[in-house]
Amino acid sequence: MTDLSVEIYQIKVKLLKERLSLVEELTGSCRLCPRECGVNRLEGEKGVCGIGAAPVYSSANLHYGEEPPISGYKGSGTIFMTGCNLNCKFCQNYPISQLRNGNIINTEILAALMLDLQDRGAHNINFVTPTHQALAIFRALIIAYEKGLRIPLVYNSGGYESLEMLKLWDGIFDVYMPDSKYSDNDTALKISNISEYTKHNQAALKEMQRQVGVLEMDDDGIARRGMLVRHLVLPGGLAGSREALKFIAEEVSKETYISLMSQYFPAHKAVNHKILRRRVSRIEYQQAMDALEEFGLENGWTQPNY
Ligand code: SF4
Repeated sequence: MTDLSVEIYQIKVKLLKERLSLVEELTGSCRLCPRECGVNRLEGEKGVCGIGAAPVYSSANLHYGEEPPISGYKGSGTIFMTGCNLNCKFCQNYPISQLRNGNIINTEILAALMLDLQDRGAHNINFVTPTHQALAIFRALIIAYEKGLRIPLVYNSGGYESLEMLKLWDGIFDVYMPDSKYSDNDTALKISNISEYTKHNQAALKEMQRQVGVLEMDDDGIARRGMLVRHLVLPGGLAGSREALKFIAEEVSKETYISLMSQYFPAHKAVNHKILRRRVSRIEYQQAMDALEEFGLENGWTQPNY
């Protein structure tokens, strides 16, 4: 470990301590995400995400199935946080996100989970669905850094973010891995039960880009810092792929790393949905790949086009 990295983590602890009261304030009348439920989660009240003040997680393991710079060759230290601020009909993790199957723990244990993943060789700590558990993660990071956490942090979210909260993460998360799920608010409301997704998602992508910039990798191809945007192509053009990619190219950066996914399959309530009950066709995925080319988005990954 170099002195420089020690210095960076000391700065992170300082920032976390300085901003903790602001995150507590946002949680006390919850505005951690754009739903702005206004419940007092410090007192155990629960909003739409269904989580109170204590951390709740579903699993903590080395994960080898993320994009190559995230999983690398030793695995990504992935902590699935329970609950979600979205409510997607097609969620493939709905037992975790919507049925909220998980373990209520405390911040010391959450910190210990991070340190254990680091000891097991993880390239990073990858918080899946962290948005609504910002306070618990804030508190746990202070403990984890003071006890020796030194690997990069990855923020892996559905991209429905509060700008106010996101600014408090500035200088803390090294890598952002948000979704860009929709480019139409009505579709987002119908499928994921969220208002003004596009407005909040686009503002979040710009802020994340401002904080960490384009994805940077080390000599082994492992992510050190930057943003990677995931876009899952949906059947029937429901994800608005062309518009979503156009926005990223024109308003964020043409250099943005995009993970363009063809892996959609009907799960949860999608099996009974008139459009979502089928997979994405070869032509639909090809059209999304064509949009990557049209807008000059050359960095990133595509998946097999069946
Ligand atoms: S984080 Fe949860 S409680 Fe807070 S505003 Fe979002 S959905 Fe509501």
